[in-house]
Amino acid sequence: MRFSRVLRVGAVAAATSLALVACGGGNGGGGDENESLTQRAENGRLTVGIKIDQPGLGLQTPDGGYEGFDVDVAKYIAKELGVEEGDIEFVETPSAQRENMIEKGDVDFIVASYSITDERKQKVDFAGPYFLAHQDLLVRADDNSIKGAEELNGKNLCSVRGSTSAQNVKDDFAPDAELQTYAGYSECLNGLETGAVDALTTDDTILAGYAAQNPGKFKLVGAELSDENYGVGLKKGDNEGRTAVNDAIKKMQDDGAWKASAEKWFGPSGYEVGDPPSLEQ
Ligand code: GLU
Repeated sequence: MRFSRVLRVGAVAAATSLALVACGGGNGGGGDENESLTQRAENGRLTVGIKIDQPGLGLQTPDGGYEGFDVDVAKYIAKELGVEEGDIEFVETPSAQRENMIEKGDVDFIVASYSITDERKQKVDFAGPYFLAHQDLLVRADDNSIKGAEELNGKNLCSVRGSTSAQNVKDDFAPDAELQTYAGYSECLNGLETGAVDALTTDDTILAGYAAQNPGKFKLVGAELSDENYGVGLKKGDNEGRTAVNDAIKKMQDDGAWKASAEKWFGPSGYEVGDPPSLEQ
């Protein structure tokens, strides 16, 4: 009697753990959540996080496609992992949700103007950096009152939630600015146009794209407020995946594809593309 009860309990425990395994996964990119990116790519499909509202970096086109430097970097990496561009599912990863989406397995990796920071490294890993940008300010073309961070205190400043730019303003540059944060940049651009905000702050790459998209309306101040090293966001602990992505980035730099893409996407906005940054060890 006693023996069979133990067996019954054991059977229930075994069934429970099987059910837990079955429910585990939860990986939008497909596969086991502990699998390396390189193993997941063997299925021939990848889910990649990008921005969809940043001309020159990650932009959704009217036909539903995606274009920009970050999109090119993502496609290059996927190809090196054995996945053709038609087999990539692109997903929008808003600034404030990037770490969470990687942790949950909603995306296999992220290429989305994603700055490498120590705080973010607590939750995710980064390959790269693959590009160096700088925080800057976008103002109305006829506004000569804002020339740098010093003039921001007391002004209406707009940025995006979860971005390093918003954090830098609060911590360092202009703690007394009237900072408004939104989920995306279009609200800030509207506000800048109507006069509801005096400046929009984020990376110069992104701002150059908006200035080029709205000729004569806006201008960059040219205040290099910070270094923003763009990394490819990956699941924490996936060293094999990180090495593979670093190899792909290195190859893209060496074979000229990096420069060709950077000039294609940043050239028209007048953004000066420097040399690629060195990869982190
Ligand atoms: N590169 C900055 C960041 O990662 C600002 C741009 C963005 O939010 O994507 O926070």
